[in-house]
Amino acid sequence: MEFTNLSIVELHNKLKNKELTIKELAKSVYKNLQENLDSNFLVTLIDEEQIENLDQEFDETNLLSGIPYVTKDNISTKGIKTTAGTKILSNYFPATDATITEKLKESKTVLLGKSTLDELGMGGTGLFGFNGEVRNPFDNERIVGGSSSGSAYAVAKGLVPFATGTDTGDSIRKPASFNGIVGFKPTYGSISRFGVIPYAPSLDHVGFFTRNVEDMAIVCDATFGYDKKDFTSIENKHEFYKNLNENKKFKFGFLEVVEKHMTGKIHDDYVKIAEKIKQDGNEVINLEFRKDLLDALPAVYMMISFAEAVSTHANLDGINFGNRVEGVDYIDTMRKSRAKNFGATVKKRMVIGSYQLKQENQERLLAKSKKVRRLIIEELNKMFEQVDVLIMPASLKIAPLVKEIYGVEIEDRDDNEAIFLEDLLVLANMNGMPSITLPFVKHNNLPIGINLNAKPKEDLKLLQASKYLEDLISKVIKESGDFNE
Ligand code: GLN
Repeated sequence: MEFTNLSIVELHNKLKNKELTIKELAKSVYKNLQENLDSNFLVTLIDEEQIENLDQEFDETNLLSGIPYVTKDNISTKGIKTTAGTKILSNYFPATDATITEKLKESKTVLLGKSTLDELGMGGTGLFGFNGEVRNPFDNERIVGGSSSGSAYAVAKGLVPFATGTDTGDSIRKPASFNGIVGFKPTYGSISRFGVIPYAPSLDHVGFFTRNVEDMAIVCDATFGYDKKDFTSIENKHEFYKNLNENKKFKFGFLEVVEKHMTGKIHDDYVKIAEKIKQDGNEVINLEFRKDLLDALPAVYMMISFAEAVSTHANLDGINFGNRVEGVDYIDTMRKSRAKNFGATVKKRMVIGSYQLKQENQERLLAKSKKVRRLIIEELNKMFEQVDVLIMPASLKIAPLVKEIYGVEIEDRDDNEAIFLEDLLVLANMNGMPSITLPFVKHNNLPIGINLNAKPKEDLKLLQASKYLEDLISKVIKESGDFNE
């Protein structure tokens, strides 16, 4: 396969050196996508005709000029089917582009496909999209992770240099960990959610997968910005690409309670990277975090996200939106349309969410979970009085086997002392802080990422620290072979 595994900058240089044209690049990438369709990573590949008609001029002042990408299928694309991974929207063609689609169009990127996701973004495996399972590109017995499964697959396999994702709990940052790529969820509201089919609006973020931090800076430059069409949007623009290497020393924090509960090789890997960071002249600070709040995190996430999902998806009734199954009246039509077209995870989450929205349960359950969310946010604020960047494990292990997943969903997992370690990434959805996963170690030749976080709106500092750490990790691997067994 030609032109695979290349970054945005590498492709840009090829276009600039006239090694190929935009159309040749698009054709070649299109063919690679087509050859991989069996793996289900795309819901829709765009019409070939669109590539035949591509007559875009290359602009050497724009790093994104002619760069191909795929976008998660819960992001609206005018006139191109947008299913959000659910059967109820399997015939939905949006009338407008999402703001992020529009911005990427203005940047002259070339959209080639819509990528698979777990239904409505609910899930973390890539096994629960209505169009079938997506599996790990490096080991077909393992999950790719989700919910942004198809986008993670496409970038990890090297088919496109970047892809969009959305992240409500960890849906960009966890699959990035399982696939050895960079996954970034910026500060809440930095990239408009207008035209993005939600899961849980107070937790939803739009972000990206790329091959490296430099490319991440490029796509963020193109897409950050206030949007009056999204009332949670904020102005948080930075010159990421230009300033990426400006800052080289940081105060890094690690959570003591996390270190205490980690075991085995992954624990040793974290001890080692902390040492290297310190030797390099940075400050490394151990932070305390209330364990009871970490233990509550998965429950708080589920309560808030399931309840929001119920209200936000009330329009998927087969009448306002979605495929209809006729009934005798509105309620019957809605019930039949939903019963036929929603999968098991969505149904389960909607039932639990509805239970909390019942008037008698709102105060007892939902309002309480929001109060705990507030305590978690306050605890995070305290961390950032002491450090610039908080480092956490993106996952403790390589991608799980598919057979380990079936029958076990997050809401039925065993209870144990260290269960909170699996859900740490959700912290960043609670307070909306920028959070990024970078490639870190390999165990049995399969990747595990490392996760970095900064105070809300300090996205620039976070990407600078990420660039620093990315370089440090590759230096350690090169010099000692550590992290790479
Ligand atoms: N894995 C989490 C879940 O199952 C996160 C989903 C997401 O971020 N969209 O809900």
